[in-house]
Amino acid sequence: MDKKMLTIDLNSHVLLDKAEKDGVETMYDRKLGFKSQCGFGLQGNCCRICGMGPCRISPKTPRGLCGADEHVIVGRNFARMVAGGTAAHSDHARDIAHTLALSSKDGNYKIRDEAKLISLAKDWDVETEDRDIYDIAHEVADIALMEFGKPHGVSRFLKYAPKQRQEVWKQYAIEPRAIDREIATIMHSTHIGCTADIDSLIHLSLRTSLADGWCGSMMGTRLSDILFGTPTPRRTEANLAVLEESKVNILLHGHEPSLSEMIVLAAEDPELLELAKEVGADGINLAGMCCTGNEVTMRHGVKIAGDFHQQELALVTGAVEAMIVDVQCIFPALAKVADCYHTKFVTTSPKAKITGSTYIEFTEENAYEDAKKIVKEAVLNFKNRDKEKVLIPELKSAATVGFSVEAVINKLDNVVNSQIDPAGTVKPLVDCLKSGVLRGAAAVVGCNNAKGVSNEAHVTIMKELIKNDIIVVSTGCGAQAAAKFGLMDEDAAQKYAGKGLATVCQLVGIPPVLHMGSCVDISRILETVAAVANYLDMDMCDIPAVGIAPEWMSEKAVAIGCYVVASGIDTYLGIMPPVTGSSRAVEILCGELEEKVGAKFTVNENCHELAATIISDIEKKRVHFEKLVEEKMMANAEA
Ligand code: SF4
Ligand code: SF4
Repeated sequence: MDKKMLTIDLNSHVLLDKAEKDGVETMYDRKLGFKSQCGFGLQGNCCRICGMGPCRISPKTPRGLCGADEHVIVGRNFARMVAGGTAAHSDHARDIAHTLALSSKDGNYKIRDEAKLISLAKDWDVETEDRDIYDIAHEVADIALMEFGKPHGVSRFLKYAPKQRQEVWKQYAIEPRAIDREIATIMHSTHIGCTADIDSLIHLSLRTSLADGWCGSMMGTRLSDILFGTPTPRRTEANLAVLEESKVNILLHGHEPSLSEMIVLAAEDPELLELAKEVGADGINLAGMCCTGNEVTMRHGVKIAGDFHQQELALVTGAVEAMIVDVQCIFPALAKVADCYHTKFVTTSPKAKITGSTYIEFTEENAYEDAKKIVKEAVLNFKNRDKEKVLIPELKSAATVGFSVEAVINKLDNVVNSQIDPAGTVKPLVDCLKSGVLRGAAAVVGCNNAKGVSNEAHVTIMKELIKNDIIVVSTGCGAQAAAKFGLMDEDAAQKYAGKGLATVCQLVGIPPVLHMGSCVDISRILETVAAVANYLDMDMCDIPAVGIAPEWMSEKAVAIGCYVVASGIDTYLGIMPPVTGSSRAVEILCGELEEKVGAKFTVNENCHELAATIISDIEKKRVHFEKLVEEKMMANAEA
């Protein structure tokens, strides 16, 4: 098979040819090298959690050595994926909370959104009157840090959900307590000789995932906005052509904004800009990949170089002086690819050291100086660039990014009749949903997965949805696919959207696919659906809104899928998770959960069929939604 069949991104095609010419191995070569993947692993019924194993389930050996059957083994593996994903998002949030604790008037980290801090402080009963903003910040940070291990109570963020949803969580006993506790409980319960009941394992998975969505991720997003500013709409560009031949190109890859925000500042430092000139460059060009890319594009409009599957190809351009990374989704293979060019592959976090990289530790205590040191390495490396080896592909797209919940509401105010309605609410969105001008809303999120064709499912599904008047919001590498393929550009609505959505986009002044940020920012999507549900006095499961992860791959995505379902939002996957080894696991996840939490998973690896199912399910959901709207109107009229 031609490697180029594995991605629809034309820049990637150009660079796959170059990689071949340069003798560089990429993920695409490794994918073709794996003739077939292990069927036991694919189905989730291989266990290696104790030294008696590994054990695998087949008709001849229906139980592991301890007697665990396929349901127990699949359930334990699934729960551990959820725990891994929740741990990643939550440790990210913990670092941001520590950064908030370090913030100071004269320090590296300042409070950029005082109103958001005050509002959170009030919600948490922190005294705000006549107090220094940094004293408030430090107290809020301490309370946030307690969310990881507090001995009593449940997540403080649950109260932002509609009361009906909170009731469901209480009734089904999935209110998450402390974040670390939920993760530890899964690791305990999935130890040999502990939980051996698939229903319980999925129940544990849902509770832990809610500790991610309605605590870790939500905290990460809120505290990042407080520290670095709540995003507002801004213009940018996406795809590898954002690299510049005449400038020092620095790629930011990973997840946490504490590092990337400082690199953005350091890249504007006059001393380093002068140094760039001295080494013969016209300046410093920053570009982002994966979720770090999303964080800095949302807040600064930093250009988007590419997504998860383009990380190696970015280096194959031969034009990258440094790839600076922190944690999560970083291919260890980057060390080898960087070796084939002049690129410095700089790791910065003690949590993610990679053999073969240049390790320059970044500490929040010494943030600006550390960031300058890293940028300096990149600038000095410009003179080592081999011009013969440079090939920057041509394609890039314009995009508007920066749609935080606040920014969405602000845009909606463009269509509020100030004589009748107050500004600053989701009413215009609710009105569009009620009237049916917008048929529904979909969050298309998640990664790229080598099991499919990179970007194909994202782009196909988004185009189908917007054509059918379903507004799309996106985060993570899904958002980067949308930006690369022009779906976040101003004119995208006229080109691709149905009449209803195109009109809404024109009046409100938005593209049909809204960039809401990084993976932790899926909490922004939860908050938007919660705001609509609260406005209508409904539960989240009553709203014609869905979650879709067409190309998911990470454990974080599994945790996300679970908390989205547990929040009452139907979730559609384009890649089958490793659960098919247990018929009970499939029955629960794709069926029975609906009775318990009001939503379930649907999986289809054919993206055209998946899009058709989503559209038809949204229409079915509308019947229920419209009936509820009518009932509420009648009740109001009678009252
Ligand atoms: S826990 Fe049971 S199924 Fe798993 S490896 Fe050990 S003996 Fe085998
Ligand atoms: S969307 Fe997936 S691949 Fe992309 S940064 Fe998030 S977890 Fe990683």
